[in-house]
Amino acid sequence: MLSGREVLVSDIKRAEELHGHLGPFLVIGVRMGEIAGRFLNVEGGNSGMRVMVRVPLVTPFSCILDGIQAVTRCTVGNRRLKIRNSDGPIMAVFKLKGCDKTLRVLVRPQLIEVLRKRLMDGDPNEELAWEVASMPEETLFELSFSLKRKKE
Ligand SMILES: [Zn+2]
Repeated sequence: MLSGREVLVSDIKRAEELHGHLGPFLVIGVRMGEIAGRFLNVEGGNSGMRVMVRVPLVTPFSCILDGIQAVTRCTVGNRRLKIRNSDGPIMAVFKLKGCDKTLRVLVRPQLIEVLRKRLMDGDPNEELAWEVASMPEETLFELSFSLKRKKE
């Protein structure tokens, strides 16, 4: 069994390979995908997973999308990833087909601000990426669940 940290490192490597470089927002996407796998009980990707991501469609923010795609295997091509351009909060809503559980992962706005400033100040992308990899989940995200009841 791999430890959580080993899984994270290997997920980050896979995302980097897909994306072409390593940065903090890519790692945020990787961690969002891992959380979704854990809470929806489908680690390693599941063909029933769907995700809708709200994110500004400019780099570095949009790098999040490739982190999510690499881990969940919900992609633009297989139509299981929907993207909405957003000027506001960055969030992803994950669902499983045939299941009423929904998980919403919101990236804490303070974190985005800090990362944006540090990138502008010239802090190296890779260094920030590994910092994000080590941050506790609650520093990065606010999670909420809903269980939609089927209308009878
Ligand atoms: Zn990037």
